[in-house]
Amino acid sequence: VNLAAIPLGEFPEPTSDARALCQDLAKLVDGRVSIANQDRIAYARDCWPKAVIWTRAGLTPPPPDVIVWPTNVDEVVALVRFASSRGIPVIPYGAGSGVCGGTLAVHGGICLDMKRMSHVGTVDREALIVEAETGVVGENFERQLARQGFTLGHFPSSIYCSTLGGWLAARSAGQCSNKYGKIEDMVASVTAVLGTGEIAVTPERPDPGASLAQLLVGSEGTLGVITKARLFVHPTPPFRSFRAYRFKSMAEGAEAIRRIFWAGVRPAVVRLYDPFDTFIAGRGRHRSHPPPSIEGISDKTRLHLQRLASKIFLRNPAGMNRLVRALDSAMLVLVFEGEPDLVAAEEEIVGRLCSRAKDLGPGPASSWMERRYSVSYGQSKIFDAGAFADTMEVAATWDHVLEVYDRVRRTLARRAFVMAHLSHAYVEGCSLYFTFASAGEDTEASIERYDEIWRLALQAAIYAGATVSHHHGVGLSKAQALRAELGHGFAVLEALKRSADPTGVLNPGKLGLGPEPDASPSAFHAFRRTARRGDEKAGTVAVNGADRLREVEEWLVAHGLTLGPLPSHVLDSTVAQWLEGPWEGLRAIPGGRLETAALSIETRRAGFSYQSVASPRSASGPDLDWLILGRRGGALRVDSAVLRAMPLPEERRLLAGSLSGPREAAALLRTLLRREVSLATAQLRRVAQGVELLVRIDGSRRRVHRDAAAFGNELTSLKGHPVAPSARPLTSAIADHEVSWADLPKALDADADIYRIARESVEVLAPQGLAVGMRLWPAPSAETLAPALAPLAYPFREPRA
Ligand SMILES: Cc1cc2nc3c(=O)[nH]c(=O)nc-3n(C[C@H](O)[C@H](O)[C@H](O)COP(=O)(O)OP(=O)(O)OC[C@H]3O[C@@H](n4cnc5c(N)ncnc54)[C@H](O)[C@@H]3O)c2cc1C
Repeated sequence: VNLAAIPLGEFPEPTSDARALCQDLAKLVDGRVSIANQDRIAYARDCWPKAVIWTRAGLTPPPPDVIVWPTNVDEVVALVRFASSRGIPVIPYGAGSGVCGGTLAVHGGICLDMKRMSHVGTVDREALIVEAETGVVGENFERQLARQGFTLGHFPSSIYCSTLGGWLAARSAGQCSNKYGKIEDMVASVTAVLGTGEIAVTPERPDPGASLAQLLVGSEGTLGVITKARLFVHPTPPFRSFRAYRFKSMAEGAEAIRRIFWAGVRPAVVRLYDPFDTFIAGRGRHRSHPPPSIEGISDKTRLHLQRLASKIFLRNPAGMNRLVRALDSAMLVLVFEGEPDLVAAEEEIVGRLCSRAKDLGPGPASSWMERRYSVSYGQSKIFDAGAFADTMEVAATWDHVLEVYDRVRRTLARRAFVMAHLSHAYVEGCSLYFTFASAGEDTEASIERYDEIWRLALQAAIYAGATVSHHHGVGLSKAQALRAELGHGFAVLEALKRSADPTGVLNPGKLGLGPEPDASPSAFHAFRRTARRGDEKAGTVAVNGADRLREVEEWLVAHGLTLGPLPSHVLDSTVAQWLEGPWEGLRAIPGGRLETAALSIETRRAGFSYQSVASPRSASGPDLDWLILGRRGGALRVDSAVLRAMPLPEERRLLAGSLSGPREAAALLRTLLRREVSLATAQLRRVAQGVELLVRIDGSRRRVHRDAAAFGNELTSLKGHPVAPSARPLTSAIADHEVSWADLPKALDADADIYRIARESVEVLAPQGLAVGMRLWPAPSAETLAPALAPLAYPFREPRA
């Protein structure tokens, strides 16, 4: 990839070819095109700090030849077809807030600015789904949802300057991901224009083919231009509260987060700052709250230190890094939101789990909330000082988190000042967010040091067991690291590319896919250690594809873990049958999200083996595991896997209520799910005077207490009354269809069978709808999925050395 930056003084005027191209394109988009120098300069870079270093030095990366502004999907199709027929690169562009060089026009071509496609539909209040065009800027999107009483729950720090399309393309994470998930968790379906010019509409989750959405999400413009998405939304939370704790060390803080997630608590925001990040987080604080700061340092000293810090840490990173280590302490910032009684229960549980830490009250967290978007924009001061700063966000399971933290810090200690926080937590692990700053004598030296820092930091992270990106994506900057992470899997990614974009015009060079896939930093060598297979601390278990799930479950239960409630016919199957079969290993997790139990899959063939990194989430390109999950044994098989387990609940309670009819029972179930009552199972039975609803509530004692009270209150408000629960076993009858909330009462009236199977599996109960029983999804038909399923027919070839 030619990344030679061009001096601004020598910025190339448009060529005659570019002018002719512009005229052709103008006809396709009603004149919404530009080849003006100021536009080409503006669109020549995104927020990749390396490009910022160039720009500060009066250089600019190679610009696109033309910028176009399509307004509808037909125009995008026409543009892609035109470009594909002539072999001209097309670079989808959201708002250019990407930090990995994902929008750089390294091979010239057409920059497709999507912001004119920004329509947001009306929220479907039954299904809790909204449809939106992907050019909508995040803040505008949230405001339009808020006006309708909903939220997507996605709040990246860049919300004012990033688009839905950019979020999807780079697998973004918002600050409240702990409760609402990452953007990939929010996707019901996407519409994309593939490199062939065909429009791919992925089937709506949880229908078959959800995997296709998971291949387009994270593809960073290399497989398709995402034009529209249908996303799960949530009613605006009625209540919010704040809490912060100080721990003696990062290790103690990390363990507290793990326990919080194991207890089933989902605060919206969870951030654990190391000492210097704590210090920086305290800047711009609200007057009424004491700042989060290093213990024992006065306000005046702190201000003085803050001014000095930027100068000192750049000259003497090793010294500053030593100071941070010596000060080892950590501040945990928590924001809870939802129903007041849920928040109260969660705060109480967290208070118990953090009893050995110092309670800092609500101040630091509410002060964080007030300026939650401002810290990210503070980096320009460092560039003003002639230095540079960047951030690296990786993710790992709990058994690797502290090693990743230590190894990256130690590796960079003499080259950059490093601070870090843990955020975006899951039952199995979390994301680690490193901020580093350094300086070189001149631009060339700065770039050299910048590349060296990135190379070493990524190597250290990969070696310690992390995935190379949790939410910023890969772009150009991590292309070589992605190769190291994927190993032979890179050949699969290349095959996917050939299938979706045979002429290779979509965003060439990104994810390392392209004519010259040697992205910076160059000479990347990473060792990927054989992943530790399964770990009790992370709640993961290593299994073979042929292992019976019932035996896996028995082993887990003996170790205080479980796969979750699964119907007996699933437990009778093997791991491979569960994951490759139509169930895709899906299960519900708190908050009504679905996720597959497969944390990592390994597939082996002669001369080929691929194993995904066991990380709770990743933004390392498309999720290739979805070429295996639910495919019913295509070219790739599950030979072994690491499964996510969950802790056995502290308490389990059976509750039953009698209601006048199925409509009332359906209304009760829906309300309970929307109030986040953690229903493990639910069963409806016909009785003499109506129906009886039997539910099992699992969780920590305090949470079960809250959920049981919510059940009682909602039951009464629907004129039902409690009855003694009978612990009759759940029937094994399976219905093979699903119904939406809107259709449920009708279905219940019509089909008596449904009474027996209202709850057989975890994934069937989600606020967005009730899938009755463990639905036996049919295999996806080739016609429906034709264009994007072609990759399954890819020829295997030996990966490059
Ligand atoms: C100050 C700041 C704070 C940030 N904070 C966060 C954060 O909290 N969380 C987070 O996840 N990220 C964060 N980022 C990174 C960045 O905002 C995200 O990567 C975001 O998803 C990019 O969105 P965008 O619309 O700006 O995309 P762009 O930068 O325009 O593009 C990013 C990539 O997506 C592709 N793309 C864009 N639109 C489409 C489309 N419609 N179809 C196909 N491909 C497309 C592009 O080709 C490119 O490869 C931050 C960045 C900055 C500068």
